[in-house]
Amino acid sequence: MDAQRALLDELMGSARNLTEEEKRGYKEVRWDDKEVCAFYMVRFCPHDLFVNTRSDLGPCPRIHDLKLKESFESSPRHDAYVPKFEAELVHFCEKLVMDLDRRVRRGRERLAQDAEPVTPAPLSTEKSEQLSVLEEKIKNLLEQVEALGESGKVDEAEALMRKVEVLNLEKTTLTQPTQSEKVLMLAQEKKMALCEICGSFLVANDAAERVQSHITGKQHIGYGMVRDFIAEYKAAKEKKREEERLVREKEAEERRKSKDKEFDGQRSELRDRGRFVELRQCDLPFIIDKEERLR
Ligand SMILES: [Zn+2]
Ligand SMILES: [Zn+2]
Repeated sequence: MDAQRALLDELMGSARNLTEEEKRGYKEVRWDDKEVCAFYMVRFCPHDLFVNTRSDLGPCPRIHDLKLKESFESSPRHDAYVPKFEAELVHFCEKLVMDLDRRVRRGRERLAQDAEPVTPAPLSTEKSEQLSVLEEKIKNLLEQVEALGESGKVDEAEALMRKVEVLNLEKTTLTQPTQSEKVLMLAQEKKMALCEICGSFLVANDAAERVQSHITGKQHIGYGMVRDFIAEYKAAKEKKREEERLVREKEAEERRKSKDKEFDGQRSELRDRGRFVELRQCDLPFIIDKEERLR
C-alpha cells in the first residue's frame, strides 16, 4: 500500500488528492507566478466587470487573491512590474473595446435599416370581413342610385346617396388604426439610439429613471472603466514621452551652450590675437608716438 502510494506520488505528485485551495497553499503560489491574475493585482480584472450581462467574459482563468495582491504591492519589485502589467491590461482592454465597437457598428447599421417608415399593421380578419360587407353594400347602393337617376327619380337617388355617404364614413373609421394600434406605431417610430460607451440600445428621450438604470448598470460602468483606463494609460504615456522630449531638448541646449562658450573663448582669443596683429602692424607707430609725446 505504501509502495503504491509512493509510486503514485512520484507519478502524479503528492498534491494529487488536494483540493484546488489546498494545492495553492501546497505550491506556495507567489504573486509573480503565471497563474496569478496581473490585471487584478495592478488595477482591475475585466472578467469581474460584466458578470451576468450580455458582455459576460466568464470567470477569470487566473487567480484573484487579496493576499497575493498585497504581497505584490509590498514587493520591492512592485514599481518595476507595474508598467508591464498595465501594458498587458491595456492590450486586453483595447481588444474588448474593439470587439464592442464592431458590435456598435453592426447595431448602428441595424438602426439605419429600422429607420424606414413604419407601415400600418394589416387589418384583422374580422375587420376585413366587415369591410367587404360594407363595400358590397356601397356598390349595390351606387347601382341603385344610377338606375334611379336614369329613370329621373332624383329625390330617391339623393336619399340613397346620403346612405352611401354614411357607409363611406363607416368604412373610413374601420380602416383607421385603433387607439392601441396607434400607440404601437408610435413606439415603433420612437427613435432608437446606441450608447457610445457600452453599445446598448437606448430609446432616445427615454424616461429619466430608465436612463439612470442604464448608466448605473454593470455593462455601462464596466465599459466606462475599461475606456477610462485606456485613456488614462495613453495620457500618462504621452506625458512621459513629452517629459523625455523636454529633458532631451534641455540636454541639447546645455550642450549647445557649453559649445558656444568654448567657441566664444576661442573667438575672443583669436580676436585678441588679431588686435595684437593690428596693433603691431598699424597702430604701433601711433602708440609709440603717443607714448613718446607723453614722456
Ligand atoms: Zn483576472
Ligand atoms: Zn451605456
